[in-house]
Amino acid sequence: MPAITAVRGRLVYNSRGSPTIEVDITTDDRHTGRAAAPSGASVGIHETASFPEGGVAASLQILNDNAGRISGADPGDVGAMHKVIREIDPEPGYPKMGGSLAFALSIAAAESAAKSAGKPLYRFLGEQAPLASASSASSASPAERYRFPFPLGNILGGGAHAGPGTPDMQEILICATGSDTVQDAIRTNLEVHSELRGVLQKLDPGFSGGKGDEGGWAPKLDNERALQAAAKACENLGFTLGREVSLGVDFASSTQWDASRSRYVYDRAGFENDPGEQIEFASDLISRFKLIYAEDAVHEEAFEDMAQIRARFPDVLVTGDDLTVTNAAILEKAARGGSCNAAILKVNQAGGLYDALEFAAAGARNGIRLVTSHRSGESTESHISHIGIATGSKMLKVGVVGGERVAKLNELLRIAESQDGTEHDLIQGMAEL
Ligand code: PEP
Ligand code: MG
Repeated sequence: MPAITAVRGRLVYNSRGSPTIEVDITTDDRHTGRAAAPSGASVGIHETASFPEGGVAASLQILNDNAGRISGADPGDVGAMHKVIREIDPEPGYPKMGGSLAFALSIAAAESAAKSAGKPLYRFLGEQAPLASASSASSASPAERYRFPFPLGNILGGGAHAGPGTPDMQEILICATGSDTVQDAIRTNLEVHSELRGVLQKLDPGFSGGKGDEGGWAPKLDNERALQAAAKACENLGFTLGREVSLGVDFASSTQWDASRSRYVYDRAGFENDPGEQIEFASDLISRFKLIYAEDAVHEEAFEDMAQIRARFPDVLVTGDDLTVTNAAILEKAARGGSCNAAILKVNQAGGLYDALEFAAAGARNGIRLVTSHRSGESTESHISHIGIATGSKMLKVGVVGGERVAKLNELLRIAESQDGTEHDLIQGMAEL
């Protein structure tokens, strides 16, 4: 059993250039894990706040003040690490240390322990409670459990991720639903992203090639024309929507929701929807563009409206993000009300790794498909590639281009290469959507 002998934190910057916290954890057998916390631009009201008042400096102070408590802890048990973190900050939402420190500490500890055990991180995590108990409840063997999630990539950005003139909708996404291998799925997403640039340049010769926060193109187009351009890029490559590739949308509808007027305000496109019209608006796009994936099609507290969309589209991943905020109790509520059949897993929405594994277990119990996701402000690390596999996620939402996005995709390629017929040969192809 390894023990932590050193913990060190520092201020670093994320892909948006915002300051964040990075933590190194070293074990007595000299393995070091490192993690830097990401952050969102469209943040759910119920998600864990990244930092306490005082920002990164305040979190670093808490870390330094408690280094003695962390030293000696066993990083090989995610639950035991969680207890240590909870001793430092017992309140829900980590108000004292901030979710970013809970994230960085718990993931750095897990990475150090996986290295110490000589296991890939996905396998270390898959053997941890509560994931291990969720899979033994479903009597799945490890080989049945681990699959490659389908990469789900942002090809066109708007909303909170891009500037004026871009679509109100936050993300148009591509997923190579017809691919048999993760290599082919990644290559196909890249082809569509690249082809879309040409389509956008034909529509607007002045298109600068500018991109949003997650590497999707950021053209001056409204929602409808942006989706048409994405569909055209797929068609130009000889793909049929719903076959080789499928489109998805993160509506991020809380960005448009004006609670004081009970209306969704699409100010870039110049229209408003009442809650009923929003359901029709989203449903129409899902049908016409054969979307496989629809995230936050209504605002973060509209559980019943989400349930209506879910009931209309049983074959679409009707996904909660701001709706479910990687919170196991909220996911249980959403499942009881039939609000979604899929949910985003972002560790930092919950705070620490153990919270996120509990969320994944709640998803498994309730038949909710998981989509492990990056944030718009990312690090260059690739832990989420492992978390996506360990949690049995159907998709990994990580973007298509940009160093911090490609890092996650490249890690999938490395993991695929390591499936060499030995005991590590545990991943049996692509997830079943
Ligand atoms: C999202 O909304 O799904 C997303 C990845 O963006 P952010 O990180 O800004 O919340
Ligand atoms: Mg989202």
